[in-house]
Amino acid sequence: MIGSSVVLRTRSWIVLCLGILATASPAARAADCPGNPEALGTSRTLVVDPREHPLIGTMQYRETLPLKDREVVLTFDDGPIPKYSNQVLKILADECIKATFFIVGNQAKANPDGVRKLVAAGHTVGTHSMDHPLTFDRMPIEKAEAEINGGIAWTAAAMTDPSQLAPFFRIPGLMRAEGVENHLISRGIQVWSADFPADDWRHVSSDRVYQLAIQRLEAKGKGILLLHDIQARTVAALPKIIRDLKAKGYRIVHVVPATAERPATPTTAVEWLLHPPTETTPIARWPRVPQFVFTQTRMLPAPALADLNAQIEHQPLLPRRTMAQASVAASLPVPGRELFAIPEGSVEVLLSTTLSRRAATRLAMAAQTPRAAKTKAAQGKTAKGKPAKLQGPRTAHAAPAAANDGAQPLDIAPKNAAARAAASKTAVPRPTRVASLKKRA
Ligand SMILES: [Zn+2]
Repeated sequence: MIGSSVVLRTRSWIVLCLGILATASPAARAADCPGNPEALGTSRTLVVDPREHPLIGTMQYRETLPLKDREVVLTFDDGPIPKYSNQVLKILADECIKATFFIVGNQAKANPDGVRKLVAAGHTVGTHSMDHPLTFDRMPIEKAEAEINGGIAWTAAAMTDPSQLAPFFRIPGLMRAEGVENHLISRGIQVWSADFPADDWRHVSSDRVYQLAIQRLEAKGKGILLLHDIQARTVAALPKIIRDLKAKGYRIVHVVPATAERPATPTTAVEWLLHPPTETTPIARWPRVPQFVFTQTRMLPAPALADLNAQIEHQPLLPRRTMAQASVAASLPVPGRELFAIPEGSVEVLLSTTLSRRAATRLAMAAQTPRAAKTKAAQGKTAKGKPAKLQGPRTAHAAPAAANDGAQPLDIAPKNAAARAAASKTAVPRPTRVASLKKRA
């Protein structure tokens, strides 16, 4: 029993899978195409909101319709002209293909029945100007508006239900201009360029049209094909193009505008790119530099270098010039030049050379002698008595040397800190001690 139930389940899965495959295959779609079991058919309907993606077609714009691989949208311009447009309609009807037609106002005016046939067949109808001038890129915007409005007015007028007119516009000759595009965008009209043409407006053979259509489609893998339903070569090439699409596994997508009752097919922004970037596709585009918004324009005061002392200590490579500038800012006023001046013949000048030291000591003694004489008695009474007031530290050092005058020259500058301190405390008693030491020696 268990085994048979597994078999039953397996069979039901096979039936289900076959059903799914049949739904997606051309053969199954042919069931919906009376009289043509091999019809290419229309695989799906794509509902687009012109305001969300107003410029489409990679021949001129960044975005195109959000098609999957091997999906194709057929478009026909410049009609309707009964002789050829009706043949195109028949070929498409035989294959149950839905396409988009861009009508010229003058053609609609001359052949309104042709427009009604398109609508009745379920095709999407957009417009393509009134007179098809190839000067949209340089004509005044007022004239462009008149061209756009004329095409819309006459095409709508040809329709039984003008609401069937799609807000799709293709600029004649693809002579795009920013002003024209902006005008159309402001009116919620989608500007259709294409992903590849087949050059069927040129004087080429129908075979050439067919070859170009397939080659260019193969090169991009999907996209919007631009054709014209007013050319004999297009009529001749179309069956061969459809045959190849079928053989190569391409699928037709029908595009219609979104309405209040018919919301746009959910898509992501990246699907509107012909070849969306993937994880496995290396790209050379770097992320955009973010746009910073400044909430205030008030400038803050630059910090003083002194505030960065801690950092300066850890930055030995900081330029010396900067360091100097930093100290200048925090320094005291420059001292006056006179502070460094030494008068000619002064004790300081004489002391600057060894040969003049004796002269210096004489000068010092001369300045000290009168006072020394006056205080001689006091000095003799007590060694702890205060020494005579001297002229300055240097004369105090000079005094012992003066006492030694005529004997061995003494170094008048104390050689160690202790001697220096002693000299400064008792400048006068020192010669007495030195003399006594020399006597003992
Ligand atoms: Zn055209």
